Amino acid sequence: MSSAAQAHQVPSGAHAAAGQVLLHCNWLNKQLWFDQLTAAGVPVAWPDDIRDWSSIQYAVGWNFTPEVLAKMPGLRAIASLGAGVDHAMRPGLIPPGVEILRIVDPLMAQRMATWVMWAVVNFQRKMDAYARAQAERRWDKTVENLKPWDNGEVRVGIMGYGVMGQAAAALLRAAGYNVAAWARTSRGGSDIQMFSGRESLRSFVERTDILVCLLPLTPETEGILSAQLLSWLPRGAGVINAARGRHLDEAALLAAIDAGHVAGAVLDVFATEPLPADSPLWAHPKVRITPHVSSITDVPNAVAQIAENYQRLLAGQPLLRVANKSAGY
Ligand code: NDP
Repeated sequence: MSSAAQAHQVPSGAHAAAGQVLLHCNWLNKQLWFDQLTAAGVPVAWPDDIRDWSSIQYAVGWNFTPEVLAKMPGLRAIASLGAGVDHAMRPGLIPPGVEILRIVDPLMAQRMATWVMWAVVNFQRKMDAYARAQAERRWDKTVENLKPWDNGEVRVGIMGYGVMGQAAAALLRAAGYNVAAWARTSRGGSDIQMFSGRESLRSFVERTDILVCLLPLTPETEGILSAQLLSWLPRGAGVINAARGRHLDEAALLAAIDAGHVAGAVLDVFATEPLPADSPLWAHPKVRITPHVSSITDVPNAVAQIAENYQRLLAGQPLLRVANKSAGY
């Protein structure tokens, strides 16, 4: 876990007066966020209801624009509504003195791990072929040739070994899969095979039958699921992406599937969301799609963390779950 446990001292003189807190969110459940944050003692207001933009020190939300940020010269911290902070990490977007706060929630990690387990099993046990047989009322026992690809034979490779990656790895390990992971920094003490850094990426990919991307989106990881990386996978491998759409070259994936090199993909995230109706991914028989729901934020747990940091900001105490801006996540 990179930045999850980091606490940052609020700069001296940062004690905040209890003014309004901006809530910048257009999600389907935005009113739930508003109501629960208000109930938790965070005085949130929608952009149209902000009385004095210059007094705002704490903002909560997703996808802040440069225009909105420019209105808040006194801003000290932005609390993300989700685990990912790439929406706030775009180069030049956030002024240097403003901290970016993550959500780190074991329940979200469990949701992600469960979705990843489903995606792995879906690919391993050829569930899409069974679904097609069912749609045609066909009793087809030849799909797996009466010899399933057993868990211990399946080499799962997880890219990103943070909150999400570790939870997914633990669940897969408990079910007997052969799991390895790839991270930015090296570490010891893990019970799975670990790879770190670009120099080990190729050997990690070459030993992987099912590749699972759980990386943060940063300048180093954007486009990492490239034609070249896909070519390093063993023939017949599966690709699972639940991180960010911009990790993946979608055209390269389709080309690798159509060439028979990659056997299928399960995708939760896309370069453009919602996925455009004319995307060739929608109808591809070897691509399974979910609409960015693999681990939606749990509102009560996230609100508790956002409120905790708000109280800390008011009291001049170190903030929790501060993203590492130099690492980009
Ligand atoms: P963490 O910050 O806890 O973990 C990130 C992991 O990625 C760490 O292991 C880190 O390495 C590794 N990493 C970062 N940069 C690199 C790099 N350049 N090369 C190799 N490894 C790298 O993040 P989370 O696990 O909480 O979340 C991961 C991502 O999952 C989020 O950023 C978000 O994009 C996505 N997500 C998607 C959701 C969905 O619903 N689809 C829901 C939640 C999250 P190290 O350990 O060395 O620091």
